Amino acid sequence: MKCKICSREAEVSDFCPLHLEAYRNVVEKYAVWEKALGIEWEEYLVQIQKNSLTGEWAKEVVKDIITRESIDVRKN
Ligand SMILES: [Zn+2]
Repeated sequence: MKCKICSREAEVSDFCPLHLEAYRNVVEKYAVWEKALGIEWEEYLVQIQKNSLTGEWAKEVVKDIITRESIDVRKN
């Protein structure tokens, strides 16, 4: 199986180890944001994608999630 973002070899999921790590970080960080800000998942994704501090790997993962879940980012 290949990583659906970068086409590197992926063993246990849809992502290669690097994108999987980034994906886990994105999901983990959401728990913190949700607790602190009461932010929705979609809004969170849009915010971290706009954030210049977000790493490139995480941004690619977020872009993939947004595409897959057909989240309408224009309304934000
Ligand atoms: Zn990858």
